[in-house]
Amino acid sequence: MPRTDAVLRDPRLVRAAQRLGPDPVKAAVRQAQDRARHGTLAPEDVPDAAVALLPPTAGGLRPVINATGVLLHTNLGRAPLSEAARRAVRDAAGPTDVELDLATGTRARRGRSALAALRARVPDAAAAHVVNNGAAALVLAATALAAGREIVISRGEMVEIGDGFRLPDLLVSTGARLREVGTTNRTDVADYAAAVGPGTGCVLKVHPSNFRVTGFTRAARTRELAALGVPVVVDIGSGLLAPHPLLPGEPDAATELRAGAALVTASGDKLLGGPQCGLLLGDAGLVGTLARHPLARALRVDKLTLAALEATLTGPATPTETALTADAGELTRRAERLADALRDTGVDVRAVACAAAVGGGGAPGVELPSAALSLPEPYAAALRAGPRPVVGRVEAGRCLLDLRAVPPEDDEPLAEAVRRARTACRAAEG
Ligand SMILES: *Cc1c(COP(=O)(O)O)cnc(C)c1O
Repeated sequence: MPRTDAVLRDPRLVRAAQRLGPDPVKAAVRQAQDRARHGTLAPEDVPDAAVALLPPTAGGLRPVINATGVLLHTNLGRAPLSEAARRAVRDAAGPTDVELDLATGTRARRGRSALAALRARVPDAAAAHVVNNGAAALVLAATALAAGREIVISRGEMVEIGDGFRLPDLLVSTGARLREVGTTNRTDVADYAAAVGPGTGCVLKVHPSNFRVTGFTRAARTRELAALGVPVVVDIGSGLLAPHPLLPGEPDAATELRAGAALVTASGDKLLGGPQCGLLLGDAGLVGTLARHPLARALRVDKLTLAALEATLTGPATPTETALTADAGELTRRAERLADALRDTGVDVRAVACAAAVGGGGAPGVELPSAALSLPEPYAAALRAGPRPVVGRVEAGRCLLDLRAVPPEDDEPLAEAVRRARTACRAAEG
């Protein structure tokens, strides 16, 4: 019989203990040892059996409640999928007709119904293509249009998108050369015009989606750039398909295409509220060239993504849209109800007003009025350690659980998580 401490050194069980705490892992090991003692398990199989006996939450990705107040939190997987999209993913998990015409039994264009749904939402786009993410959309556009040639880009739009990745590096990795024009704060159409020539592959406009430059600024308009006679690619980032009344400063695909952009690129898992993917919308000839480029095969999306994207595009409001448009008064009432429900626990809990953000590369500087439960700071760590982790934020020495990105049906699990965290916090206080 393998000794308990030896089994517990199995790296899989070490990881599980970090996630779950030691007790459930030890319980799984004891159960496996019992089976070995009864002769229903070979002693050398105890570690594998213990791993199999762990609760399902021991491995992989764990569902969390996003109480950070950041609607599109990249570390939390950005946009949560709608119920319709979740169902579509499950239904597409088996064999599907993703590339087959069932009427004729012959090969059909991959993802054609998702692409049709995308075009229906953006009638200004003559054609559409979908790749793995926003960065892949840019790489494909830059490679097909400008490898060995120049991309003309403003110095004010050389953006780092996060985790140390910088768009200029990404663009140069395609074999394109960057022709930087203008300055950090001001770039005129004349700056672009002076740089455009026979070596130009495209003009690229990038939405500064995670920062704002204010004061003495100027940026050229898409309409002015479209008159320069070279393809204008606009990376809008956030995936808004049409103007949004709450986000007047945020660019959208329809407006950019109408202004003459040859191509718009965007992410699917930001304000569009869908799965991770990259959208390419625009001129039919250009999109066709991109879709047939050899690199397109390496950036291809899977059927699950296509299913989720189509359901997102054709379904009711996404959770992201619901969170974005949630009424601040209603959020306050929810926070007050939760604080009341937790009063009997003796926890120092209050409902407070706060400000939420879009995040994830969208609407920088926009503050959304919100409401939160305010708890003592140690609750932040205790809530992340629970069986249904809740991720809040720490502000001015308090743990805030911002309700804007929390669907109302998660209020009860949230309260339950606070009750559990209270036990952990009390134990820590001794
Ligand atoms: C987010 C973003 C990207 C990268 O998109 P991913 O989907 O994260 O790959 C590129 N450009 C802009 C302007 C963005 O906001």
